[in-house]
Amino acid sequence: MNEIAVLKFGGTSVKNIGRIQHVCEIASAISKSHHVLVIVSAMGDTTDYLMKLSKQCAAVPDKRELDLLLSTGEQISIALVAMTLRSIGVKARSFTGQQVGIFTESVHTKARIVDIKGDTIKNAFKEHDVIVVAGFQGVTETGDVTTLGRGGSDTTAVALAAAVGAHTCDIYTDVDGIYTADPNTIKGARLLKRISYGEVLELARMGSQVIHPRAVELARQYGIKLRVRNTFKPENEGTTIDGGEPQMEIFRTISGVAIDKDQACVAIMDVPDQPGIAGKITKALADDNIAIDMIMQSFHPSIGLNNITFTVNDADLDHTIATLRQLQEQMKAKEVKADPDIAKVSLIGAGLSGQPQIAAKLFAVLGNAGINIKMISSSEMKITCVVARADAQTAAQLIHDAFELTGAISSA
Ligand code: ASP
Ligand code: MG
Repeated sequence: MNEIAVLKFGGTSVKNIGRIQHVCEIASAISKSHHVLVIVSAMGDTTDYLMKLSKQCAAVPDKRELDLLLSTGEQISIALVAMTLRSIGVKARSFTGQQVGIFTESVHTKARIVDIKGDTIKNAFKEHDVIVVAGFQGVTETGDVTTLGRGGSDTTAVALAAAVGAHTCDIYTDVDGIYTADPNTIKGARLLKRISYGEVLELARMGSQVIHPRAVELARQYGIKLRVRNTFKPENEGTTIDGGEPQMEIFRTISGVAIDKDQACVAIMDVPDQPGIAGKITKALADDNIAIDMIMQSFHPSIGLNNITFTVNDADLDHTIATLRQLQEQMKAKEVKADPDIAKVSLIGAGLSGQPQIAAKLFAVLGNAGINIKMISSSEMKITCVVARADAQTAAQLIHDAFELTGAISSA
């Protein structure tokens, strides 16, 4: 059997029929020497459009129904890609997540994959040269359609690569690869030829849109080399993401700057300063499957009250506020406040730990520019500041310039 090449095409790569034809030419060319497994996202902004429709029908749409709706976006793409391939003489066939046996937990709108029946694909390759699978979706044991969370097609691609035993997974997108910052908005952003799973994971978690963090985690777990490449320049090598050993982590202290604008800040004010309060709040949100981040508890030793502030994903804001309002009464807290207009700006690098002067410089750069830092968190590979969303772009550019990410990095 031929080796399987796994290619994932994002929404911009299949945005219209012309682009679908282009994607099909790439897949067709590779199918001359490989079996090709293509994973596609929904066309362009289809998922956003479907989200918008759902909000017009219900303020908080039922999540099971939302999943059924959202999964149609990818179903359109796979059928169009497969019929285009067939029209140019390629033996292609499309499958939804359910048809191909991508089983997930039953957590609607952010399900994790629990099992993939790799045999369906292997069998399909007996008669077809290109198999096209819908990204971002799966099915529960009981037959309900689920989705994997926004941007989840990357995860589908890597999980399928692992299931069929592929060693490489190519993520085709609309940029040349992974940069030190978003090249569309940050002047001087540089392409990185190679980067480690760990660094790219931080970049992705902190808002770099190029690749989904869960996909990178999975790739690391299964030792799958990822290549981020430009659909419109398929001859370019792009950026390789792998274990990273040995050179780059030693020579490169800082890898990049990321902005995440899809964030909101929520605070529960004047909660009693007692053991167990933080646990109750986080448990209630966890039960609702809301991931919280950057938890900050203010310190008022004499008053006996605390403010607990944290960030959540924009999409979870309404649910978070609703959950906290319920707790507010129980806990006799004063009020729940939200700031929807924030963004996280992060500096990421494998060599950050134990270098306090980097944090000092970063804060000084923002301070000198009159940009207020609302929250700070740091860990081994990153320093994150929450700023007003309107300041995020300037903040990122200033940081990129201050750390000379433009010229000082080895791209090897
Ligand atoms: N279509 C889904 C989204 O826009 C999944 C993906 O593109 O990866 O989030
Ligand atoms: Mg998308």
